[in-house]
Amino acid sequence: MKGRVFKSTGSWYSVKVGDTFYNCRLRGKMRLYDEKVTNPVAVGDWVEIQLENDEEGIIQEVVERTNYVIRKSTRKKRHSHILAANIDQAALIITLAFPRTSLGFIDRFLVACESFRIPAILVFNKSDLLDEEALTYFEDLKFDYESIGYKVLLVSAESGDNMDLLEDSLKGKTTLFSGHSGVGKSTMLNLLSPEIEQRVGEVSDAVGKGTHTTTFAEMFEIAKDTYVIDTPGIKELGLWDIGDEELSHYFPEMREFIGECKFNNCTHIHEPGCAFREAMERGEIAPSRYENYLSMLADDDNRR
Ligand code: GDP
Ligand code: ZN
Repeated sequence: MKGRVFKSTGSWYSVKVGDTFYNCRLRGKMRLYDEKVTNPVAVGDWVEIQLENDEEGIIQEVVERTNYVIRKSTRKKRHSHILAANIDQAALIITLAFPRTSLGFIDRFLVACESFRIPAILVFNKSDLLDEEALTYFEDLKFDYESIGYKVLLVSAESGDNMDLLEDSLKGKTTLFSGHSGVGKSTMLNLLSPEIEQRVGEVSDAVGKGTHTTTFAEMFEIAKDTYVIDTPGIKELGLWDIGDEELSHYFPEMREFIGECKFNNCTHIHEPGCAFREAMERGEIAPSRYENYLSMLADDDNRR
């Protein structure tokens, strides 16, 4: 039977087949998809299971993934795990109120999504707290990010304002939710599906017992064929092995200027005839995006 993995503790997997959840273990020997990762099965995977009884089964095989995101272990770089698989889009929950999300953080997230080939949505929360000035700033950001292909929403999880627009964007898809703590991700998920609150509670209980130190993602079906994946405790997607030359490929507005610099070995900082800087000066690349590109280029520790 084919089912989808909703939750994992590392040794048990909760797999939904039709309307029923089964607790599953892995078949004895399962091949790792990639030698850099430690888990053969992840939340969001479609799997083939064999039932043992009414409640339990064995995962026999993982259906080929359309994509997946890796969670980099900060201590042991070789021991990373697949956070989630088969994701249609990633929603970054951010806010211009407190705790204000930095543009650097947003751009790093977008680069990570590009590298994983996952479309991204920027969800600005706490609209109820924005004054006139902040709203104007939001409109500028919305224009900038939409013009390079990202969907931008302004919602309030507190008042419910524009939450219908968010729901529309989620319909029929699997969406990974990320965000700094405090931006309102839990409030938002609870609003999308009241059952989440209760089940998120269960997960933190298990973590509280000290049995699992790794953070696992959990998936919820908030409407028919509409899934959200919560990643508790994970604020950032890893920038995995992105080389210097590769980085600009993950800035959609820079792609057309790749290879156009006067010097082959252009560092894009101060050389004459730098295509990126010139495009920025012409207003074709937002200054903050160019700055963040340079700082990501300089900060290669975070890309390895
Ligand atoms: P999380 O850490 O991202 O899961 O954030 P929470 O959902 O726990 O929210 C953090 C705080 O922000 C809580 O006090 C929420 O009540 C508050 N909050 C969440 N969304 C909104 C919003 O849209 N407007 C306002 N004013 N407060 C919000
Ligand atoms: Zn250049």
